[in-house]
Amino acid sequence: MERVRDLSELPKAHLHLHFTGSMRPGTVLELADKHGVRLPDALTDALTSGEPPRLRATDERGWFRFQRLYDAARSCLREPEDIQRLVREAAEEDVKDGSGWLEIQVDPTSYAPRLGGLIPALEIILDAVDTTARETGLGMRVLVAANRMKHPLDARTLARLAVRYAERGVVGFGLSNDERRGMARDFDRAFAIARDGGLLSAPHGGELTGPSSVRDCLDDLDAHRIGHGVRAAEDPRLLKRLADRGITCEVCPASNVALGVYEKPQDVPLRTLFEAGVPMALGADDPLLFGSRLAAQYEIARTHHGFTDAELAELARQSIRGSAAPDDTKKRLLAGVDGWLVG
Ligand SMILES: [Zn+2]
Repeated sequence: MERVRDLSELPKAHLHLHFTGSMRPGTVLELADKHGVRLPDALTDALTSGEPPRLRATDERGWFRFQRLYDAARSCLREPEDIQRLVREAAEEDVKDGSGWLEIQVDPTSYAPRLGGLIPALEIILDAVDTTARETGLGMRVLVAANRMKHPLDARTLARLAVRYAERGVVGFGLSNDERRGMARDFDRAFAIARDGGLLSAPHGGELTGPSSVRDCLDDLDAHRIGHGVRAAEDPRLLKRLADRGITCEVCPASNVALGVYEKPQDVPLRTLFEAGVPMALGADDPLLFGSRLAAQYEIARTHHGFTDAELAELARQSIRGSAAPDDTKKRLLAGVDGWLVG
């Protein structure tokens, strides 16, 4: 019988992980205790049971509930050492799952009030990432993400800040939160600033809304990568466009199921995107709330979609190629993928 290769040993890059959402459940509970934060019962229940709450974010109320839980978890991060702990643990979890490169996504605006302002917040985060990368050996960078629920001018401010810190570890610019709010093109100037400053354009699209939101990311924000993008599966012409241009979709299967974008893991159209030649980088999105981390996403591809080890290796290669990692890191990780497959 053929040996089952361990997916946590498959070298890969993790390109879709949100800051607060990366936390270990136990850490949130400990920090809540430390700072005297009273968490909503729904969050405490989810964190202690390990069962992701069913959120049905496909309607606005469900999304609002998800945001409320997320905000409650974020409110436990109050001091620089909390940020350092979060980053270190996120890296440790990633390393355990075979990640050789992690791009963590953060809107520093959310942390600014407690950390002394926008610039100190970003600097604390970047310092933590730098220290952690050196201590763990994991290549790690930051995507600064604007919030589409806020004014586009705020996004421009963030884009300028992100560009200023490109030398300090910011590699990309994102756009997150409810896709049903605001149009992508409202944020076109912010993304132009980011792209002109050499950052990757990596907005969320094609998660809560259909293929048109992915098209908007391409047309209006000149996206290099799409956060999620899975709903492109509903439009063969769009799939071809993504494949032809080599736009990597950061697909997060467990997140999609937890948020009700798809009913079951086998409904996430991994095969459709793969067969269409759309590069993917599987990601965990918010493991804190969705209950599974990076290697588990590859496990879903294997168990529910019948991906062979050769195909899983190809998925890992796609994640590495779609990353902002330097060429020598990519080369090393790609060689590791080949090693995994022949080993
Ligand atoms: Zn996301």
